Amino acid sequence: MTTITLNHVSKRFPRATGSDLADIVAVDDITLKIQSGQVLALLGPSGCGKSTLLRMIAGIIAPDEGQVLYDNRPLDEVPLMDRGIGMVFQEGALIPHWEAGRSVGFFLELRHREDEVPERIQRISSITGIGLDSLLGRFPRQLSGGEKQRVAIARALSRDLAVLLFDEPFANLDAKYRAEARVELRRLLNAYPVTTVYVTHDQNEAVALSDRIGVMREGKIEQTGSYLQLRDNPVNLFVATFIGVPTINLFPGKIEDQTWVGENFGGYPIRGDLDNGVKVTAGIRPEHVHLTANGTYGVVDTVVPYYAERYQLIEVHLAGESWTLTAGLDDPIEIGSTIQCELDPAGLMFFDTRSGARIG
Ligand code: ADP
Ligand code: MG
Repeated sequence: MTTITLNHVSKRFPRATGSDLADIVAVDDITLKIQSGQVLALLGPSGCGKSTLLRMIAGIIAPDEGQVLYDNRPLDEVPLMDRGIGMVFQEGALIPHWEAGRSVGFFLELRHREDEVPERIQRISSITGIGLDSLLGRFPRQLSGGEKQRVAIARALSRDLAVLLFDEPFANLDAKYRAEARVELRRLLNAYPVTTVYVTHDQNEAVALSDRIGVMREGKIEQTGSYLQLRDNPVNLFVATFIGVPTINLFPGKIEDQTWVGENFGGYPIRGDLDNGVKVTAGIRPEHVHLTANGTYGVVDTVVPYYAERYQLIEVHLAGESWTLTAGLDDPIEIGSTIQCELDPAGLMFFDTRSGARIG
């Protein structure tokens, strides 16, 4: 297995010819270590540079600045055959006129080790619980999207790997298939511990598959940590809003005599070194707003049941603001009814409105 190190890695792309705008900075000075055997998810919105970073980790494109190292060796000094990279893309890149089995066995065949393929396939089949064998005699056009991705993953795992790289492999699958494929892949990653980077824009997928998540925005990694660290201790507004389902409640406000005061409510103590009038956004996650018998009165705007997650999401108009909170599915809550709520001050987070930085 391999430890991957990124040292101040950057990548720019020129804009379309004729444009006088500056280059696109797809990856902006990223420094990161992925320990041997670790599964790191790169999570961020579309266009934030995930694929570009992954392609530099794979050695498919070279950084403009900085270095990618495998076990402290610059990647461009590691011969291709020794890199041991398995890659799976959004579109399983199976060769159209090859039967799936030939694609899967290709790498071992190259090394005259084709005898080992059936055993690997058997093991992958039994770990995932899918009948991979039945897929291997088919051509890619005879496979569904999910089946193609399973073959692509089996192909990546069919040889000894040092590094496994995924670029949104399940993004094109429908939700049910995606959830199943996720569980199968988790089992495979447990059975074949390999240093892995998994690119996704889906936080559920990142949580399910990785040990550690790096949240990306505009070419930078904003924060790395476990899902719970990111959810409970985000370093800025971007991470706070990107991570966590349902989304955090945010309220604009400002500092007044060492308290936070919103447009419609406030008076919460905040650290003492901030000048009066500084704009501060308060955030509180829906799970820290509770229904109670003696709280503030609010009127219910919307109720959305989430049966699988076992809660209903409630939008309530309260104290001049719109809040979301969650309640058990058994609570009979009707649109237009009046409920009483209170927020748990321990769940409050404060952010500098201008920079987005967490300040309390
Ligand atoms: P993500 O995978 O997070 O969606 P990408 O790494 O694909 O993001 O892209 C990051 C940015 O770089 C985007 O603005 C994208 O348009 C741009 N980009 C990516 N690849 C190229 C390329 N080959 N040429 C020009 N611009 C590119
Ligand atoms: Mg991408």
